[in-house]
Amino acid sequence: MEKSLVLLKPDALDRGIVGEIIHRFERTGIKIVGLKMLVSNEDMARGHYTEDLAERRGEAVRDLMIKMISSGPIIAIVFEGVEVVEVIRKMVGATEPKSAAPGTIRGDFAHVSFKHADEHKMGVYNLIHASGSPEEAQAEIAVWFTPEELVSHNPSYTNITLKKGQ
Ligand code: ADP
Repeated sequence: MEKSLVLLKPDALDRGIVGEIIHRFERTGIKIVGLKMLVSNEDMARGHYTEDLAERRGEAVRDLMIKMISSGPIIAIVFEGVEVVEVIRKMVGATEPKSAAPGTIRGDFAHVSFKHADEHKMGVYNLIHASGSPEEAQAEIAVWFTPEELVSHNPSYTNITLKKGQ
């Protein structure tokens, strides 16, 4: 079973769509194994938005995102399920809301472009973070949760057994 880290960023809480977003994941059968609301400090923000982001998107974007993620309350969630990193990324959609497909969280609830963010020297407000790989998920979960804060329980899909002949 795989785990993924999701952050509902301050803009998701501002918009009052926390329930909508969590509902989308829950109805797929993906399980919540950790959940908390917090205001990030700079260390946590730096641990989450690492040098890797600066290498991919530039130092300025990393700095903006560290400020943005610490600018208000966030909700951190650990989900568990079958190849759940890929499933969640598919549901979240492309980084740029303008390009995110309808039906995805970013495509349905946001619309801004990279151009707009760059012109206004701000981070792209796209509501949600989701781990990009199982390895990234492991590192990110360790930033936001202690092992004791994760609650393992038996999701129903682990109990499904095929009857003979099916
Ligand atoms: P994702 O969150 O889709 O995995 P990245 O890890 O590449 O995307 O970027 C992290 C976050 O940084 C994005 O979700 C977005 O909020 C912000 N971001 C990325 N590129 C830019 C940019 N060019 N200008 C402003 N903000 C950006």
